[in-house]
Amino acid sequence: MECLFCKFISGEIKPEKVFENETVLGFKDIYPQAKEHYLFISKTHTENINNLTSSHGEQLTEVYSAIKDFTESNDLSTDGFRIVTNMGKNGGQTVFHTHFHVLGGEAMGRFGS
Ligand code: 5GP
Ligand code: ZN
Repeated sequence: MECLFCKFISGEIKPEKVFENETVLGFKDIYPQAKEHYLFISKTHTENINNLTSSHGEQLTEVYSAIKDFTESNDLSTDGFRIVTNMGKNGGQTVFHTHFHVLGGEAMGRFGS
């Protein structure tokens, strides 16, 4: 198995988990870009968001629902947070298992390079 995040799911490598249920894993990003920076992934591997089809609707809902539960129970939702998904080379994607950055704990700047 080549995929780093699939190794997190299988337990072969252990990230700092912050959320887990049957279908979704959330963990701290190793190089935080905000005071609070988490990654949320579906336990079903897809490479990036453009590999998602209408059949993945439930998978997406599960991830967003997990982010909602996590941010509401960890005091991130009152002041808000940002979700980022990088896609491909120009998007800056470095891990090819679809993931959602959750950034918060401080005000985010406007989008930049
Ligand atoms: P991308 O650049 O693909 O949008 O996001 C990949 C993210 O994974 C990066 O923010 C990077 O810091 C994070 N990352 C890379 N390797 C590891 C690791 O071994 N553990 C954790 N927790 N995060 C990682
Ligand atoms: Zn994977």
